[in-house]
Amino acid sequence: MSTKSAAVAKLARRLIARLPLPIATPVDLRRAWGRPMQHPLAAKRAVVVGSDDDAVVVLSDALRTAAASVYDTPQDAGADIALVTVPGDAPADSLVAWARQFGSTLRGVAKHGRVIVVVRASGPTLVTDAVHGFVRSLGRETGRRAVTVHAVVSPTPQTAASVVVFLASERAAYLSGQTITLRGGQGPSTDRPHPEVAVVTGAARGIGAAIARCLADAGYRVMVADVASQSEVARRLVDALGGEAAGMMFQPCDVRDPAAVSSMLEKARTLSPVGCIDVIVNNAGITRDRTFGRMSDAEWSDVLEVDLTSLVNVTRSALPRMCDGGRIVNVSSVTGLAGNFGQTNYAMAKGGVIGFTRELAVEVEPRKIAVTAVAPGLIDTAMTAKIPLINREVAKQMTSLAQAGQPEDVAMAVEFLARREAWPLRGQTMRVDGGMFFGP
Ligand code: NAD
Repeated sequence: MSTKSAAVAKLARRLIARLPLPIATPVDLRRAWGRPMQHPLAAKRAVVVGSDDDAVVVLSDALRTAAASVYDTPQDAGADIALVTVPGDAPADSLVAWARQFGSTLRGVAKHGRVIVVVRASGPTLVTDAVHGFVRSLGRETGRRAVTVHAVVSPTPQTAASVVVFLASERAAYLSGQTITLRGGQGPSTDRPHPEVAVVTGAARGIGAAIARCLADAGYRVMVADVASQSEVARRLVDALGGEAAGMMFQPCDVRDPAAVSSMLEKARTLSPVGCIDVIVNNAGITRDRTFGRMSDAEWSDVLEVDLTSLVNVTRSALPRMCDGGRIVNVSSVTGLAGNFGQTNYAMAKGGVIGFTRELAVEVEPRKIAVTAVAPGLIDTAMTAKIPLINREVAKQMTSLAQAGQPEDVAMAVEFLARREAWPLRGQTMRVDGGMFFGP
Protein backbone atom coordinates (compact mmCIF):
# COMPACT_ATOMS: atom_id res chain seq x y z
CA MET A 1 0.00 0.00 0.00
CA SER A 2 1.30 3.51 -0.82
CA THR A 3 2.11 5.87 2.09
CA LYS A 4 -0.75 8.15 1.03
CA SER A 5 -3.38 5.42 0.90
CA ALA A 6 -2.08 3.96 4.19
CA ALA A 7 -2.54 7.38 5.83
CA VAL A 8 -6.05 7.75 4.36
CA ALA A 9 -6.97 4.23 5.52
CA LYS A 10 -5.68 5.05 9.01
CA LEU A 11 -7.80 8.21 9.10
CA ALA A 12 -10.86 6.25 7.91
CA ARG A 13 -10.27 3.64 10.62
CA ARG A 14 -10.10 6.39 13.24
CA LEU A 15 -13.36 7.88 12.00
CA ILE A 16 -15.05 4.49 11.93
CA ALA A 17 -13.71 3.77 15.43
CA ARG A 18 -15.72 6.79 16.68
CA LEU A 19 -18.94 5.18 15.54
CA PRO A 20 -20.84 3.30 18.25
CA LEU A 21 -19.92 -0.07 16.70
CA PRO A 22 -17.61 -2.90 17.77
CA ILE A 23 -14.62 -2.08 15.54
CA ALA A 24 -11.68 -4.49 15.50
CA THR A 25 -8.12 -3.24 15.22
CA PRO A 26 -6.10 -5.49 12.95
CA VAL A 27 -2.94 -7.26 14.07
CA ASP A 28 0.05 -6.99 11.69
CA LEU A 29 0.35 -10.41 10.12
CA ARG A 30 3.63 -12.35 10.06
CA ARG A 31 4.41 -13.20 6.45
CA ALA A 32 7.31 -15.22 5.05
CA TRP A 33 7.55 -13.43 1.72
CA GLY A 34 10.45 -14.19 -0.63
CA ARG A 35 12.07 -17.46 -1.58
CA PRO A 36 10.17 -20.49 -0.21
CA MET A 37 12.03 -21.90 2.80
CA GLN A 38 13.27 -25.45 3.01
CA HIS A 39 12.16 -25.54 6.66
CA PRO A 40 9.05 -23.36 6.73
CA LEU A 41 8.08 -24.27 10.31
CA ALA A 42 11.46 -23.72 11.99
CA ALA A 43 11.00 -22.56 15.63
CA LYS A 44 7.26 -23.35 15.60
CA ARG A 45 5.74 -25.47 18.37
CA ALA A 46 3.03 -27.82 17.16
CA VAL A 47 0.59 -29.84 19.24
CA VAL A 48 -0.84 -32.78 17.30
CA VAL A 49 -3.71 -34.71 18.87
CA GLY A 50 -6.90 -36.45 17.79
CA SER A 51 -8.94 -39.55 17.48
CA ASP A 52 -7.34 -40.67 14.19
CA ASP A 53 -4.09 -42.15 15.57
CA ASP A 54 -2.57 -43.01 12.22
CA ALA A 55 -3.10 -39.42 11.01
CA VAL A 56 -1.48 -38.10 14.21
CA VAL A 57 1.69 -40.09 13.43
CA VAL A 58 1.88 -39.19 9.73
CA LEU A 59 1.15 -35.49 10.16
CA SER A 60 3.49 -35.15 13.16
CA ASP A 61 6.24 -36.47 10.90
CA ALA A 62 5.33 -33.99 8.17
CA LEU A 63 5.49 -31.08 10.63
CA ARG A 64 8.82 -32.33 12.00
CA THR A 65 10.25 -32.55 8.48
CA ALA A 66 9.32 -28.88 8.09
CA ALA A 67 11.36 -28.30 11.31
CA ALA A 68 8.50 -27.77 13.82
CA SER A 69 8.88 -29.12 17.38
CA VAL A 70 5.98 -31.50 17.83
CA TYR A 71 4.21 -32.28 21.15
CA ASP A 72 1.23 -34.43 22.03
CA THR A 73 -0.03 -32.30 24.92
CA PRO A 74 -0.99 -28.60 25.18
CA GLN A 75 1.99 -26.29 25.86
CA ASP A 76 2.10 -23.81 28.75
CA ALA A 77 2.96 -20.87 26.55
CA GLY A 78 0.47 -22.02 23.91
CA ALA A 79 1.35 -23.77 20.68
CA ASP A 80 1.93 -22.03 17.36
CA ILE A 81 0.11 -24.83 15.58
CA ALA A 82 -2.74 -26.97 16.93
CA LEU A 83 -3.53 -29.86 14.65
CA VAL A 84 -6.46 -32.11 15.51
CA THR A 85 -7.43 -35.21 13.56
CA VAL A 86 -10.87 -36.79 13.32
CA PRO A 87 -12.19 -39.74 11.28
CA GLY A 88 -14.80 -38.64 8.75
CA ASP A 89 -17.11 -41.54 9.62
CA ALA A 90 -17.27 -40.73 13.35
CA PRO A 91 -20.85 -40.77 14.71
CA ALA A 92 -22.57 -37.46 15.42
CA ASP A 93 -22.58 -37.91 19.19
CA SER A 94 -18.77 -38.36 19.21
CA LEU A 95 -18.41 -34.67 18.25
CA VAL A 96 -19.42 -33.68 21.77
CA ALA A 97 -16.66 -35.80 23.28
CA TRP A 98 -14.28 -34.54 20.57
CA ALA A 99 -14.91 -30.88 21.45
CA ARG A 100 -14.51 -31.65 25.18
CA GLN A 101 -11.33 -33.67 24.68
CA PHE A 102 -9.56 -31.26 22.34
CA GLY A 103 -11.13 -27.93 23.28
CA SER A 104 -8.21 -26.88 25.47
CA THR A 105 -5.71 -27.59 22.64
CA LEU A 106 -7.74 -25.48 20.24
CA ARG A 107 -8.23 -22.63 22.73
CA GLY A 108 -4.59 -22.51 23.80
CA VAL A 109 -3.07 -21.37 20.51
CA ALA A 110 -0.60 -18.49 20.63
CA LYS A 111 -1.05 -15.17 18.76
CA HIS A 112 -0.33 -15.61 15.01
CA GLY A 113 -0.99 -19.32 15.45
CA ARG A 114 -2.80 -21.87 13.31
CA VAL A 115 -5.62 -24.31 14.05
CA ILE A 116 -5.99 -27.11 11.51
CA VAL A 117 -8.58 -29.88 11.74
CA VAL A 118 -7.81 -32.83 9.47
CA VAL A 119 -10.79 -35.03 8.65
CA ARG A 120 -10.11 -38.38 7.01
CA ALA A 121 -12.83 -38.70 4.35
CA SER A 122 -13.15 -39.11 0.58
CA GLY A 123 -16.23 -36.92 0.29
CA PRO A 124 -18.78 -35.00 2.34
CA THR A 125 -19.98 -36.65 5.55
CA LEU A 126 -21.79 -35.38 8.61
CA VAL A 127 -18.39 -34.80 10.24
CA THR A 128 -16.93 -32.82 7.29
CA ASP A 129 -19.97 -30.53 7.25
CA ALA A 130 -19.89 -30.12 11.03
CA VAL A 131 -16.17 -29.32 11.03
CA HIS A 132 -16.65 -26.83 8.18
CA GLY A 133 -19.19 -24.90 10.25
CA PHE A 134 -16.91 -25.15 13.27
CA VAL A 135 -13.80 -23.74 11.57
CA ARG A 136 -15.75 -20.91 9.90
CA SER A 137 -17.00 -19.86 13.32
CA LEU A 138 -13.82 -20.43 15.33
CA GLY A 139 -11.81 -18.43 12.77
CA ARG A 140 -14.06 -15.43 13.42
CA GLU A 141 -13.35 -15.64 17.12
CA THR A 142 -9.57 -16.09 16.81
CA GLY A 143 -8.91 -13.76 13.86
CA ARG A 144 -8.50 -10.76 16.16
CA ARG A 145 -5.32 -12.49 17.45
CA ALA A 146 -4.20 -13.30 13.86
CA VAL A 147 -4.90 -16.98 14.55
CA THR A 148 -6.20 -18.69 11.42
CA VAL A 149 -8.34 -21.84 11.31
CA HIS A 150 -8.86 -24.46 8.59
CA ALA A 151 -10.32 -27.87 7.87
CA VAL A 152 -8.55 -30.26 5.52
CA VAL A 153 -10.66 -33.15 4.27
CA SER A 154 -8.38 -35.85 2.95
CA PRO A 155 -8.73 -39.52 1.96
CA THR A 156 -5.41 -40.35 3.65
CA PRO A 157 -3.17 -38.42 6.05
CA GLN A 158 -0.28 -38.67 3.57
CA THR A 159 -2.35 -36.80 0.99
CA ALA A 160 -2.87 -33.95 3.48
CA ALA A 161 0.79 -33.47 4.45
CA SER A 162 1.91 -30.75 2.03
CA VAL A 163 -1.21 -28.60 2.35
CA VAL A 164 -1.08 -28.87 6.16
CA VAL A 165 2.53 -27.61 6.16
CA PHE A 166 1.60 -24.76 3.82
CA LEU A 167 -1.41 -23.68 5.92
CA ALA A 168 0.71 -23.86 9.08
CA SER A 169 3.41 -21.65 7.56
CA GLU A 170 3.79 -17.88 7.41
CA ARG A 171 3.07 -18.05 3.68
CA ALA A 172 -0.60 -18.59 4.55
CA ALA A 173 -1.07 -15.72 7.03
CA TYR A 174 -4.08 -14.27 5.16
CA LEU A 175 -5.97 -17.55 4.66
CA SER A 176 -8.58 -18.48 7.22
CA GLY A 177 -11.87 -20.26 7.73
CA GLN A 178 -11.77 -22.57 4.79
CA THR A 179 -12.34 -26.21 4.16
CA ILE A 180 -9.96 -27.72 1.62
CA THR A 181 -11.07 -31.02 0.13
CA LEU A 182 -8.29 -33.17 -1.28
CA ARG A 183 -8.30 -36.00 -3.80
CA GLY A 184 -6.00 -39.00 -3.75
CA GLY A 185 -4.22 -40.53 -6.72
CA GLN A 186 -0.68 -40.65 -8.01
CA GLY A 187 0.52 -37.20 -9.04
CA PRO A 188 3.44 -36.18 -11.24
CA SER A 189 7.00 -36.68 -10.03
CA THR A 190 8.11 -33.83 -7.76
CA ASP A 191 11.61 -33.71 -9.29
CA ARG A 192 12.57 -30.50 -11.06
CA PRO A 193 15.45 -31.58 -13.28
CA HIS A 194 15.58 -28.21 -15.13
CA PRO A 195 14.32 -24.65 -14.55
CA GLU A 196 10.56 -24.52 -15.05
CA VAL A 197 8.71 -21.88 -17.06
CA ALA A 198 5.67 -19.99 -15.78
CA VAL A 199 3.42 -17.63 -17.76
CA VAL A 200 1.51 -14.97 -15.82
CA THR A 201 -1.13 -12.88 -17.60
CA GLY A 202 -1.87 -9.35 -16.37
CA ALA A 203 1.52 -9.47 -14.66
CA ALA A 204 2.63 -5.83 -14.95
CA ARG A 205 1.14 -4.70 -11.66
CA GLY A 206 -0.94 -5.65 -8.62
CA ILE A 207 -1.51 -9.31 -7.88
CA GLY A 208 -0.01 -10.44 -11.20
CA ALA A 209 3.28 -8.63 -10.54
CA ALA A 210 3.46 -10.17 -7.06
CA ILE A 211 2.86 -13.63 -8.55
CA ALA A 212 5.61 -13.07 -11.13
CA ARG A 213 8.02 -12.02 -8.34
CA CYS A 214 7.06 -14.94 -6.13
CA LEU A 215 7.49 -17.49 -8.92
CA ALA A 216 10.84 -15.96 -9.90
CA ASP A 217 11.93 -16.22 -6.23
CA ALA A 218 10.90 -19.87 -6.30
CA GLY A 219 13.20 -20.51 -9.27
CA TYR A 220 10.86 -20.26 -12.26
CA ARG A 221 11.65 -18.50 -15.51
CA VAL A 222 8.73 -16.12 -15.90
CA MET A 223 6.91 -14.78 -18.94
CA VAL A 224 5.34 -11.48 -17.87
CA ALA A 225 2.36 -10.89 -20.20
CA ASP A 226 0.24 -7.75 -20.15
CA VAL A 227 -1.34 -5.20 -22.46
CA ALA A 228 1.01 -2.99 -24.52
CA SER A 229 0.08 0.14 -22.52
CA GLN A 230 1.74 -1.48 -19.49
CA SER A 231 5.02 -2.14 -21.37
CA GLU A 232 7.16 0.29 -19.43
CA VAL A 233 6.17 -0.93 -15.98
CA ALA A 234 6.32 -4.57 -17.14
CA ARG A 235 9.86 -4.11 -18.50
CA ARG A 236 10.94 -2.59 -15.18
CA LEU A 237 9.54 -5.64 -13.41
CA VAL A 238 11.40 -8.02 -15.74
CA ASP A 239 14.63 -6.09 -15.10
CA ALA A 240 14.05 -6.30 -11.34
CA LEU A 241 13.64 -10.08 -11.66
CA GLY A 242 17.06 -10.37 -13.31
CA GLY A 243 16.14 -9.66 -16.94
CA GLU A 244 16.53 -11.97 -19.93
CA ALA A 245 19.84 -13.26 -18.58
CA ALA A 246 17.85 -14.86 -15.75
CA GLY A 247 15.27 -16.28 -18.16
CA MET A 248 12.65 -13.57 -17.58
CA MET A 249 10.72 -12.02 -20.47
CA PHE A 250 7.98 -9.47 -21.15
CA GLN A 251 5.65 -9.90 -24.09
CA PRO A 252 2.83 -7.43 -24.83
CA CYS A 253 -0.31 -9.53 -24.98
CA ASP A 254 -3.95 -8.60 -24.73
CA VAL A 255 -5.61 -11.83 -23.61
CA ARG A 256 -8.62 -11.02 -25.84
CA ASP A 257 -6.45 -11.36 -28.96
CA PRO A 258 -5.90 -15.03 -29.94
CA ALA A 259 -2.96 -14.23 -32.27
CA ALA A 260 -1.17 -12.24 -29.55
CA VAL A 261 -1.80 -15.05 -27.04
CA SER A 262 -0.41 -17.66 -29.41
CA SER A 263 2.73 -15.66 -30.15
CA MET A 264 3.28 -14.92 -26.42
CA LEU A 265 2.99 -18.64 -25.59
CA GLU A 266 5.43 -19.55 -28.38
CA LYS A 267 7.95 -17.09 -26.90
CA ALA A 268 7.38 -18.58 -23.44
CA ARG A 269 8.29 -22.03 -24.78
CA THR A 270 11.66 -20.70 -25.87
CA LEU A 271 12.48 -20.00 -22.20
CA SER A 272 12.41 -23.73 -21.46
CA PRO A 273 15.31 -26.10 -22.14
CA VAL A 274 12.69 -28.74 -23.05
CA GLY A 275 10.40 -26.44 -25.07
CA CYS A 276 7.19 -26.65 -23.05
CA ILE A 277 5.44 -24.48 -20.46
CA ASP A 278 5.15 -25.79 -16.90
CA VAL A 279 2.77 -23.30 -15.29
CA ILE A 280 0.05 -20.97 -16.58
CA VAL A 281 -1.37 -18.38 -14.19
CA ASN A 282 -4.54 -16.82 -15.63
CA ASN A 283 -4.56 -13.59 -13.65
CA ALA A 284 -5.60 -10.79 -16.07
CA GLY A 285 -8.93 -9.34 -15.01
CA ILE A 286 -11.04 -6.19 -14.92
CA THR A 287 -14.13 -4.88 -13.11
CA ARG A 288 -16.93 -2.66 -14.46
CA ASP A 289 -19.27 -2.37 -11.47
CA ARG A 290 -22.92 -1.31 -11.78
CA THR A 291 -26.25 -2.73 -10.64
CA PHE A 292 -27.71 -5.27 -13.06
CA GLY A 293 -30.64 -3.11 -14.15
CA ARG A 294 -28.38 -0.20 -15.14
CA MET A 295 -25.44 -2.13 -16.57
CA SER A 296 -24.56 -1.25 -20.16
CA ASP A 297 -23.97 -3.96 -22.77
CA ALA A 298 -20.28 -2.98 -22.89
CA GLU A 299 -19.86 -3.23 -19.08
CA TRP A 300 -21.39 -6.68 -19.26
CA SER A 301 -19.48 -8.01 -22.25
CA ASP A 302 -16.07 -6.45 -21.39
CA VAL A 303 -15.94 -8.21 -18.03
CA LEU A 304 -17.19 -11.54 -19.39
CA GLU A 305 -14.73 -11.31 -22.28
CA VAL A 306 -11.59 -10.52 -20.26
CA ASP A 307 -12.32 -12.42 -17.04
CA LEU A 308 -13.88 -15.60 -18.43
CA THR A 309 -13.81 -16.06 -22.23
CA SER A 310 -10.17 -14.98 -22.57
CA LEU A 311 -9.12 -17.14 -19.62
CA VAL A 312 -10.70 -20.13 -21.37
CA ASN A 313 -9.03 -19.17 -24.68
CA VAL A 314 -5.57 -18.69 -23.14
CA THR A 315 -5.90 -22.09 -21.48
CA ARG A 316 -7.05 -23.74 -24.71
CA SER A 317 -4.13 -22.26 -26.60
CA ALA A 318 -1.68 -23.14 -23.82
CA LEU A 319 -2.62 -26.79 -23.25
CA PRO A 320 -0.90 -28.24 -26.37
CA ARG A 321 2.23 -26.24 -25.44
CA MET A 322 2.30 -27.41 -21.81
CA CYS A 323 4.53 -30.08 -20.32
CA ASP A 324 2.82 -33.17 -18.90
CA GLY A 325 2.78 -32.68 -15.11
CA GLY A 326 2.13 -28.94 -15.60
CA ARG A 327 -0.14 -26.74 -13.52
CA ILE A 328 -2.79 -24.14 -14.36
CA VAL A 329 -3.78 -21.68 -11.64
CA ASN A 330 -6.79 -19.45 -12.32
CA VAL A 331 -7.42 -16.24 -10.43
CA SER A 332 -11.11 -16.09 -9.52
CA SER A 333 -12.61 -14.02 -6.67
CA VAL A 334 -14.72 -14.48 -3.54
CA THR A 335 -17.33 -12.56 -5.53
CA GLY A 336 -17.61 -15.70 -7.67
CA LEU A 337 -18.48 -17.67 -4.51
CA ALA A 338 -20.47 -15.22 -2.43
CA GLY A 339 -21.70 -12.58 -4.91
CA ASN A 340 -21.48 -8.84 -4.34
CA PHE A 341 -23.76 -5.84 -4.81
CA GLY A 342 -23.16 -4.20 -8.21
CA GLN A 343 -21.01 -7.03 -9.54
CA THR A 344 -23.36 -9.42 -11.39
CA ASN A 345 -21.06 -9.34 -14.44
CA TYR A 346 -17.89 -9.96 -12.39
CA ALA A 347 -19.58 -12.62 -10.21
CA MET A 348 -20.78 -14.47 -13.29
CA ALA A 349 -17.31 -14.42 -14.84
CA LYS A 350 -15.48 -15.38 -11.64
CA GLY A 351 -18.09 -18.03 -10.75
CA GLY A 352 -17.56 -19.43 -14.25
CA VAL A 353 -13.81 -19.60 -13.59
CA ILE A 354 -14.47 -21.79 -10.52
CA GLY A 355 -16.66 -24.18 -12.54
CA PHE A 356 -14.18 -24.24 -15.42
CA THR A 357 -11.37 -25.07 -12.97
CA ARG A 358 -13.31 -27.97 -11.46
CA GLU A 359 -14.31 -29.49 -14.82
CA LEU A 360 -11.02 -28.97 -16.67
CA ALA A 361 -9.15 -30.59 -13.78
CA VAL A 362 -10.91 -33.87 -14.53
CA GLU A 363 -10.28 -33.63 -18.26
CA VAL A 364 -6.52 -33.02 -18.10
CA GLU A 365 -5.84 -35.41 -15.23
CA PRO A 366 -4.50 -38.14 -17.57
CA ARG A 367 -1.66 -35.73 -18.50
CA LYS A 368 -1.04 -35.11 -14.76
CA ILE A 369 -1.79 -31.45 -15.26
CA ALA A 370 -3.31 -29.97 -12.10
CA VAL A 371 -5.86 -27.16 -12.49
CA THR A 372 -6.67 -25.08 -9.41
CA ALA A 373 -7.92 -21.60 -8.62
CA VAL A 374 -7.52 -18.91 -5.99
CA ALA A 375 -10.38 -16.70 -4.85
CA PRO A 376 -8.91 -13.52 -3.39
CA GLY A 377 -11.03 -11.39 -1.08
CA LEU A 378 -10.25 -7.70 -0.62
CA ILE A 379 -6.64 -7.19 -1.71
CA ASP A 380 -4.91 -3.78 -1.75
CA THR A 381 -4.32 -3.03 -5.45
CA ALA A 382 -5.22 -0.41 -8.07
CA MET A 383 -8.41 -2.40 -8.74
CA THR A 384 -9.72 -2.06 -5.18
CA ALA A 385 -8.43 1.52 -4.79
CA LYS A 386 -11.51 2.41 -6.89
CA ILE A 387 -13.87 1.18 -4.14
CA PRO A 388 -15.19 4.06 -1.99
CA LEU A 389 -13.06 4.33 1.16
CA ILE A 390 -15.86 3.74 3.63
CA ASN A 391 -17.01 0.59 1.78
CA ARG A 392 -13.43 -0.68 1.79
CA GLU A 393 -13.06 -0.14 5.52
CA VAL A 394 -16.39 -1.86 6.19
CA ALA A 395 -15.29 -4.78 3.97
CA LYS A 396 -12.12 -5.16 6.07
CA GLN A 397 -14.25 -5.40 9.19
CA MET A 398 -16.16 -8.22 7.51
CA THR A 399 -13.09 -10.47 7.58
CA SER A 400 -11.91 -12.52 10.54
CA LEU A 401 -8.50 -10.79 10.40
CA ALA A 402 -10.12 -7.31 10.16
CA GLN A 403 -7.89 -6.22 7.29
CA ALA A 404 -7.31 -6.32 3.54
CA GLY A 405 -4.79 -8.73 2.10
CA GLN A 406 -1.66 -7.80 0.17
CA PRO A 407 -0.93 -8.97 -3.41
CA GLU A 408 1.87 -11.10 -1.89
CA ASP A 409 -0.71 -13.14 0.05
CA VAL A 410 -2.34 -14.23 -3.19
CA ALA A 411 1.06 -14.75 -4.80
CA MET A 412 2.23 -17.12 -2.05
CA ALA A 413 -0.96 -19.18 -2.42
CA VAL A 414 -0.48 -19.32 -6.20
CA GLU A 415 3.15 -20.36 -5.77
CA PHE A 416 1.99 -23.20 -3.51
CA LEU A 417 -0.69 -24.30 -5.99
CA ALA A 418 1.93 -24.22 -8.76
CA ARG A 419 4.02 -26.81 -6.92
CA ARG A 420 3.78 -30.40 -8.04
CA GLU A 421 2.91 -31.52 -4.52
CA ALA A 422 -0.32 -29.50 -4.71
CA TRP A 423 -1.72 -32.28 -6.96
CA PRO A 424 -4.33 -33.36 -4.33
CA LEU A 425 -5.94 -29.90 -4.62
CA ARG A 426 -6.75 -30.25 -8.35
CA GLY A 427 -10.17 -28.86 -9.19
CA GLN A 428 -10.27 -26.82 -5.95
CA THR A 429 -10.56 -23.09 -5.38
CA MET A 430 -8.54 -21.78 -2.47
CA ARG A 431 -9.85 -18.60 -0.84
CA VAL A 432 -7.29 -15.94 0.08
CA ASP A 433 -9.66 -13.64 1.90
CA GLY A 434 -8.68 -13.25 5.55
CA GLY A 435 -11.71 -15.33 6.56
CA MET A 436 -14.52 -13.34 4.90
CA PHE A 437 -17.85 -13.57 6.63
CA PHE A 438 -19.67 -14.19 3.34
CA GLY A 439 -20.01 -17.18 1.08
CA PRO A 440 -19.87 -20.94 1.50
P1 NAD B 1 -5.09 -4.68 -11.35
O1 NAD B 1 -6.10 -3.88 -12.09
O2 NAD B 1 -4.18 -3.99 -10.41
O3 NAD B 1 -4.19 -5.53 -12.37
C1 NAD B 1 -4.78 -6.24 -13.43
C2 NAD B 1 -3.73 -6.44 -14.51
O4 NAD B 1 -4.39 -7.13 -15.59
C3 NAD B 1 -3.23 -5.11 -15.07
O5 NAD B 1 -1.83 -5.13 -15.20
C4 NAD B 1 -3.91 -5.01 -16.42
O6 NAD B 1 -3.16 -4.29 -17.39
C5 NAD B 1 -4.04 -6.48 -16.80
N1 NAD B 1 -5.07 -6.67 -17.81
C6 NAD B 1 -6.32 -6.15 -17.83
N2 NAD B 1 -6.92 -6.49 -18.98
C7 NAD B 1 -6.05 -7.24 -19.68
C8 NAD B 1 -6.11 -7.87 -20.93
N3 NAD B 1 -7.18 -7.77 -21.73
N4 NAD B 1 -5.02 -8.56 -21.37
C9 NAD B 1 -3.91 -8.65 -20.59
N5 NAD B 1 -3.80 -8.07 -19.38
C10 NAD B 1 -4.87 -7.36 -18.94
O7 NAD B 1 -5.93 -5.81 -10.63
P2 NAD B 1 -5.53 -6.83 -9.45
O8 NAD B 1 -6.24 -6.38 -8.25
O9 NAD B 1 -4.08 -7.05 -9.42
O10 NAD B 1 -6.30 -8.12 -9.98
C11 NAD B 1 -5.63 -9.25 -10.55
C12 NAD B 1 -6.63 -10.39 -10.62
O11 NAD B 1 -7.11 -10.68 -9.31
C13 NAD B 1 -7.86 -10.09 -11.45
O12 NAD B 1 -8.27 -11.24 -12.15
C14 NAD B 1 -8.90 -9.72 -10.42
O13 NAD B 1 -10.22 -9.94 -10.88
C15 NAD B 1 -8.52 -10.66 -9.31
N6 NAD B 1 -9.00 -10.26 -7.99
C16 NAD B 1 -8.55 -9.12 -7.38
C17 NAD B 1 -9.03 -8.80 -6.12
C18 NAD B 1 -8.57 -7.58 -5.37
O14 NAD B 1 -9.09 -7.34 -4.27
N7 NAD B 1 -7.63 -6.80 -5.87
C19 NAD B 1 -9.96 -9.62 -5.48
C20 NAD B 1 -10.40 -10.76 -6.14
C21 NAD B 1 -9.90 -11.08 -7.38
